[in-house]
Amino acid sequence: MIDLNSTHDVNLKSWVDSANEDSTDFPIQNLPLGVFRANEKEQFRCGVGIGNFILDISKAADIGLLSGVGVEACKSSTLNSFMDLGPVDWSEFRANVSALLKLGGPQEEASSCLVSMQEAEMGLPASIGDFTDFYSSINHATNVGSMFRPDNPLLPNYKYVPIAYHGRTSSIRVSGEQTIRPKGQLKPPDAEVPEFGPCKRLDYETELGIFVGSSTKLGTSIDIGEVENHIFGLCILNDWSARDIQTWEYQPLGPFMAKNFSSIISPWVVTLEALAPFRTKVFERPDGDPMPLPYLNSSSHQDFGGIDINIEVAVSTEKMRASNLDPHVIGSPGFKDMYWTIFQMLTHHTSNGCSVNSGDLYGSGTVSGTTSDTYGSILEACKGGKEKIEFPSGETRTFLEDGDEVIMRAWCAGAGKARIGFGECRSIIMPAS
Ligand code: CA
Repeated sequence: MIDLNSTHDVNLKSWVDSANEDSTDFPIQNLPLGVFRANEKEQFRCGVGIGNFILDISKAADIGLLSGVGVEACKSSTLNSFMDLGPVDWSEFRANVSALLKLGGPQEEASSCLVSMQEAEMGLPASIGDFTDFYSSINHATNVGSMFRPDNPLLPNYKYVPIAYHGRTSSIRVSGEQTIRPKGQLKPPDAEVPEFGPCKRLDYETELGIFVGSSTKLGTSIDIGEVENHIFGLCILNDWSARDIQTWEYQPLGPFMAKNFSSIISPWVVTLEALAPFRTKVFERPDGDPMPLPYLNSSSHQDFGGIDINIEVAVSTEKMRASNLDPHVIGSPGFKDMYWTIFQMLTHHTSNGCSVNSGDLYGSGTVSGTTSDTYGSILEACKGGKEKIEFPSGETRTFLEDGDEVIMRAWCAGAGKARIGFGECRSIIMPAS
């Protein structure tokens, strides 16, 4: 587990005023990494989020304010090389950026390296080679399983295996990009044969995405005690899902066209080091549940394998935006209640010798709680289409309609700790083409 250090100090302030506001997602204790450009003519380049600004790493290096292995690795249009370095270099970089941005740091020289977030365009943080999506919330698995198998919601492997499928990277986009309603084979239960047409049961899945840090070699596995060295950081992930396509196609091989048309991630990667103050014990398995097999367990993991992250998903319709109504929050699940941790997921992923590469992304699976205000998918919130969700505009929804915008947020907060946030993951649904 990463030790707390001076970069986490709750009393640390920045000379960037907006980083000291209570409401900011990006105080000096956060320092998330992302890829940005100030205008369309520029190449994307690496930056660090601070208040309402982005610190341009290359520019800070050019004028001699930052140096080191991490800074050199950041001279790129993606974070892959930086992600590949490992925790010693990540931590040195973080300490240097913190020293640069803290109150008393070289404000006069460094302010020329700041770009306004409002004016910048964010890109995908990494060239994502592989994407795996897990299913690690037992509440989500139970809520959804109950709809299809009321007497037997959880399959017998669930409490032993971190379940996942291999996803698709070509359709991963960054927050702000639109999502086109997919078309596919749909077969209502009472129909004899399927038809082909636009999805009628479009849904979001509220997840966190985890970026792999240091790569591994094919044939090697990551021990649960070493896995932290291979996890770079986390973002928000909306794993769009077409429920009607999914229902018809998912047996016998799992999700395919229901999931591969779009996945949206937030642009800022919050590092594992920034999340250190929010580590907590793993979800307490109820009496009678098996303990994880030894390769997925250790006493240190039991004590610190969880991360206390608050997540919120909201929907805004076209009518609501026209009337200046705030997005309607549908669910606020907590990440610390996940049955499988991000560490168990990656350990399991490599346990058969499967190699992973820096910049690979894996999703946590929909994060859900047990009550109606903590559901991470609209499938759960509308009880499979049986209950209408009422919006402040007077509109109702079961599944999503064209023009609806889904907005996900995540943040960590706690007594005596600096609140840090992930920013936003948003996307508007466009009509089927
Ligand atoms: Ca998913």
